[in-house]
Amino acid sequence: MLCAKHKTGLVFFPAFDWAISPNHPEREERLLYTQDQVLEEGLLDIDGIIEYKPDIATIRDIQRTHFCVPDEWEVTTESHFISAGGAKTIGMAVMDKQVERGFALVRPPGHHAMRVVHGSRGFCNINIEAMMIEYLRTAYKVGRVAIVDTDCHHGDGTQDIYWHDPDVLFISLHQDGRTLYPGSGFLNELGGPNAAGLTVNIPLPPNTSEEGFIYALEEMVLPILADFKPDIIINSAGQDNHYADPLTNMNFSAQGYARLTELLKPDIAVLEGGYSIESALPYMNVGIILAMAGLDYSRVREPDYDPDGIRQGREVTEYIRRLGDKVMTGWNRRDETRKELQAGKTFDQRRRSIFYDTDNILEKQEETVRICEECGGCWSIDTSSDGRKRALAVHLPIKGCAACRETAYQWYESADPKTFDLALLQDRQKDRYLKREL
Ligand SMILES: [Zn+2]
Ligand SMILES: [Zn+2]
Ligand SMILES: [Zn+2]
Repeated sequence: MLCAKHKTGLVFFPAFDWAISPNHPEREERLLYTQDQVLEEGLLDIDGIIEYKPDIATIRDIQRTHFCVPDEWEVTTESHFISAGGAKTIGMAVMDKQVERGFALVRPPGHHAMRVVHGSRGFCNINIEAMMIEYLRTAYKVGRVAIVDTDCHHGDGTQDIYWHDPDVLFISLHQDGRTLYPGSGFLNELGGPNAAGLTVNIPLPPNTSEEGFIYALEEMVLPILADFKPDIIINSAGQDNHYADPLTNMNFSAQGYARLTELLKPDIAVLEGGYSIESALPYMNVGIILAMAGLDYSRVREPDYDPDGIRQGREVTEYIRRLGDKVMTGWNRRDETRKELQAGKTFDQRRRSIFYDTDNILEKQEETVRICEECGGCWSIDTSSDGRKRALAVHLPIKGCAACRETAYQWYESADPKTFDLALLQDRQKDRYLKREL
């Protein structure tokens, strides 16, 4: 009988009664085909592959990660609670050492959901990986976390949530934002002044094949991880870099994804995108599960797989080589970048407009972060969108220092009722969430 080298936990939640619309790519069948394939291949009969039922996330789990406007119920459905709960289940199974690794095959996805949530963007309402991570940091005191996002789209929501956090490294490999939604994830997006360099973007050119992905992993991602020394590695495992994916323009395969997983060795993987739901996604997921379990995946092949047919051109190879030099220069310069961004300031500010393409909402934000040498720095966001409530959202980081703590509470308590409808405070130190209607 086959026996897994690494005991691996799985959670399936296909959300079979939930879809954005009946023929939207983000619909029920996405995971039903994978579930069939996993059963057909007998993966659940392998000794050391264990299936768990998803827990249901709570309102408190959302409040650790997000500021929902006007509230959590307004921007979620039951499926979101179960999808995020499934990620949490895998996180707990790994932390409690029931398994060595785990993969949450759940939907709806989450990596485009940012810190503030007014609605759905890029098919995402709440960020399921970030919710799991915030839970693990609180319940298990996990220190340093690395997130490697291998979805074809830039993980802009996860980037936003950890932009100011010096304890979380966020690396996203994706198709260049000039050619694909959400149009972000460029080399100069490096993180805020207190966490400079800990956001790492690797925008790959269209038609990147196995060679380019494995090169990016070996020459960029793995050396950066070795430097950062995370306590845990999370993979936002989007499968839409596949050559058959209808939404993207990449040339990755099931073999490539399995190899990538074998090299990355994530403790926890959480499914994100992947829209070639019948001809590719089941193979990729099976390949990833086998790779996580340390089993042979060489026979996992799409019926039409032809490595020569999808091989990347020489210009693509050259481009990625030069990109690698730039990424590593940015990483090695991170202390200097931090000094440049801080430059004797007490506070740093930025203004942004955020478009929620799925729900057609335009949000305006004004963000203020306290420059801090001792912690990630408290910050506040003044957020509003047309015809909706205007909120002041204040965040105190988990390792917030006394001065940041005082500033955060002062911001929250002195929110002007003439300007704001709501004041919110996410106190990650005391693990509580305060809300005042003004
Ligand atoms: Zn990505
Ligand atoms: Zn995607
Ligand atoms: Zn501080």
